[in-house]
Amino acid sequence: MPRHEEAQQMFVEVAVPVHVAQTFTYRLTPEQSVDAKPGARIRVPFGRKLVTAYIVALHDELPADLKLTEAELKEADRVVDSVPVCTPEILQLARWVAEYYASPLGEVLKATLPPGINPPPQGSFVKAKLRRFVRATDLKPEKLTAKQLSVLTTLQQNGALALQALIKDAAVSAATVTSLEKKGLVEVFEEAVRRDPMAHSASWPVEDYTLTAAQSAVFETIREQVDEETYGAFLLHGVTGSGKTEIYIRAMHAALARGRSAMMLVPEIALTPVFSRRLRSHFGDKVAIFHSSLQRGERFDEWTRVKSGAARVVIGTRSAVFAPVQNLGLIVVDEEHESTYRQQESPYYNARDTAIVRAQKESATVVLGSATPALESFHNVRAGKYKLLKLPQRIGERPMAQARIVDMRNVFLRHGKPRVFSDELLEAIQETHARNEQSIILLNRRGYSSFILCRSCGETIQCPNCDVTLTYHRSERVIVCHYCNHRKGVPKVCPACGKKYIYYVGEGTEQLEELLTQLFPALRVARIDRDTTARRRVFEQSLADFSAGKIDTLVGTQMLAKGHDFPNVTLVGVVSVDAGLALPDFRSAERTFQLITQVAGRAGRGDRPGRVLIQTYHPYHYALRHACAQDYEGFYNEEIQYRQNHSYPPFVSLASLLIHGPDLDRVRNDSLELRKQLDVANEQRHCRILGPAPAPLSRLKGEHRFQLLLKSRSRRHLREVADAALKSAAANGMNLRSVNLEIDPVSIM
Ligand code: ADP
Ligand code: ZN
Repeated sequence: MPRHEEAQQMFVEVAVPVHVAQTFTYRLTPEQSVDAKPGARIRVPFGRKLVTAYIVALHDELPADLKLTEAELKEADRVVDSVPVCTPEILQLARWVAEYYASPLGEVLKATLPPGINPPPQGSFVKAKLRRFVRATDLKPEKLTAKQLSVLTTLQQNGALALQALIKDAAVSAATVTSLEKKGLVEVFEEAVRRDPMAHSASWPVEDYTLTAAQSAVFETIREQVDEETYGAFLLHGVTGSGKTEIYIRAMHAALARGRSAMMLVPEIALTPVFSRRLRSHFGDKVAIFHSSLQRGERFDEWTRVKSGAARVVIGTRSAVFAPVQNLGLIVVDEEHESTYRQQESPYYNARDTAIVRAQKESATVVLGSATPALESFHNVRAGKYKLLKLPQRIGERPMAQARIVDMRNVFLRHGKPRVFSDELLEAIQETHARNEQSIILLNRRGYSSFILCRSCGETIQCPNCDVTLTYHRSERVIVCHYCNHRKGVPKVCPACGKKYIYYVGEGTEQLEELLTQLFPALRVARIDRDTTARRRVFEQSLADFSAGKIDTLVGTQMLAKGHDFPNVTLVGVVSVDAGLALPDFRSAERTFQLITQVAGRAGRGDRPGRVLIQTYHPYHYALRHACAQDYEGFYNEEIQYRQNHSYPPFVSLASLLIHGPDLDRVRNDSLELRKQLDVANEQRHCRILGPAPAPLSRLKGEHRFQLLLKSRSRRHLREVADAALKSAAANGMNLRSVNLEIDPVSIM
């Protein structure tokens, strides 16, 4: 009996990966309904195209709320997967993300999968990589040539061999192998080979420490929770160098010992090689790595290994939270305060908060770790939602680095002009070098100088698409927009007045590197920032060289502040924190506090004490004061008061509505219209509505941007007001594709 005869006619509800909130219903043929399962991909006609969508539900009858009749429904083209690509757990998690963040379910589901796995025309198709192998058969060889004999002997010694390796080892050509295959003496077969993202990294020996008493106490508490196999959330507040990583690793072992899996999220791609090596040395091939700079094939293979259960430990950046891990027992979110956990484009989500929800749904333990917990997380401890675990001391009772503020106003007075480096910092760099110790110099900006100014007319060179100045990159001799990547050559004369008084203002990492090399010719300086990390291996190499002592001073952006462990670093200099403090964002004090505390954690991790020098024109700012005193709770108490007084999170929920488009009048009118609809929806006054105002970045990639901000003590009301306003705006003809609704934005810039 053909298998479709047992199946009944069904309707399928699919999520399409486009910027629309709703799902769509299609008819299935009896054959299709056999394979159709929630989580499988399906090709459906959408508009005038065929698109790959995701099955989210199956119905025997037409859904009652559907306004279409059966005859009006389109038929699906074909079901792509007989085994769903999305597991039930991931489907459920994606639904939560879509619902909570008002993100289109289709876009969320697409984000849970490795990129490029959809069949053409959506992209070139990623699949398993096959390699040809050769093995000998049982047939008795008769007369053979010397070359044929060489092949068979080689196979006898090695068992099966990859074709290429065999040709090389036996010193023959492919034709010899083919001749043997024709005689039936060898068999050529294909097998999937794994593309291993860590194939080129040297392995590290396992470090086997005895936990300190403080570590043991923390670990035992986590282990009890892991062993219970129920949901439990911890905030591990441990100063930098307190040995949090060791606890994460033990906790992962504990989850594996229960037959469950473990996941560790890290904030930066740059940190994955460091942790991956460590996890590899503990868990071997059970580790899978997820991050966006892997090649597509590598990512596909890692994802496949996780889905099949071959890999049971996942490490990765934010999208790893969607890894199809089976039987998840533990999620670690390292540096949980980092804003990189927030995806800044559709589909919006915060991987830390998603991790909490995933742990709840899958009865797992979740550990959020940080030396500077997000204000919201510490607030959750106070509210009883997370259990607090503390590691207040560094391992080996190493003292915390001494942090000092250098008042740049005095430096300016002394020299009569602004200086990049204070005398104090230069002296410290020299002393550190003289003692054969290393230093890190940090700048929160990249490029050679931040912008170009004409001293004659004051013209700055702006990006033609975005509302920002272009940044000068000396090594390539170009000016670049850091938002849209628009680049052009450096002008010889001012484009506005035609005079040649072009002047480079501000300083970038390249300039710091060059200044230091000029001042101290013997100092070996290297630079790490986003420009150099574009090349993964170069970045890893620089870190390795620094670690091996081949570099004295590492100049870089804030990515240097995190995670790395260099025992010989005894000095960290922060060239300027003022740009960060001045950002028009309610989190700017928190960010600055975090940056300084983290960076101070990089100094003095070995036996010698470290020091930190922070250059600023605002020496009395409370964020700097508490950061220098390494006083998290002092900062928390002051900052939480500010948040309460000014009605900012965690005391209110926030949503931002960004209206964007190429036509300024249209964007402005749409935002005014949206404001009107918000006011109507907010009749009960549950929300405060701000704007519309030009977004701080009022032009980006050729589009104008206006923003509205919603605040409310009730998250539910916030959503109801926003949703109702968007619905009536759409009913009045507004195109919602030009409106981004963001729930819990991490940055309101
Ligand atoms: P954190 O993640 O809290 O900043 P790490 O986990 O990197 O700290 O630990 C700091 C240093 O102490 C590392 O070099 C680590 O290898 C070492 N370390 C951790 N635990 C122990 C221990 N129990 N005994 C000795 N050294 C340890
Ligand atoms: Zn631009």
